[in-house]
Amino acid sequence: MRIAILALQGAFAEHEQMLRLLGVETTLIREHWKDVSGLIIPGGESTSMMRIMRDEGLFEPLRQAILDGLPVLGTCAGLIMLDRNHLDVMDIMARRNAYGRQLGSFNTEEEFKGIGRIPMTFIRAPYIEEAGPEVEILARVDGKAVAARQKNMLVTAFHPELTNDTRIHELFLSMVKSKN
Ligand code: GLN
Repeated sequence: MRIAILALQGAFAEHEQMLRLLGVETTLIREHWKDVSGLIIPGGESTSMMRIMRDEGLFEPLRQAILDGLPVLGTCAGLIMLDRNHLDVMDIMARRNAYGRQLGSFNTEEEFKGIGRIPMTFIRAPYIEEAGPEVEILARVDGKAVAARQKNMLVTAFHPELTNDTRIHELFLSMVKSKN
């Protein structure tokens, strides 16, 4: 199994370390890719990531691969990239920088459906403002949806790669395994 990590911009190295810890082979992608079983879109800055994705001609191929069922994990800006206003593959609307300036970054611990309590690190994070009927909300913080799944897509508004807890990556890998 080999997992691609979109490495245009942002926190891709941390996801690479996390998967290394789990004994999974990774490939950092900036252009085209082949022979991968899953894809991670990291946190960063969604406007820049979007621009680079278009400049590199990756927008359409990535969108199509996800629509064709490639398992994808989007964290923070990666969540934004999957929403209706960006790649438009997941039936969600993200609200950017949703916690205001003062609360731009914080750590908390909350219940994650099917996993239990997990540490969550938020950095100028979005939350999920709207979700369609096919979307399952997996976690909330202060009533706001911060993690969700729709078919082959898993998103978190927080950064699981910045904690020592590997369970979100393991959940994603179980989605990859059950697909193949
Ligand atoms: N605020 C960023 C954006 O809107 C996301 C922050 C992050 O990925 N850590 O793209």
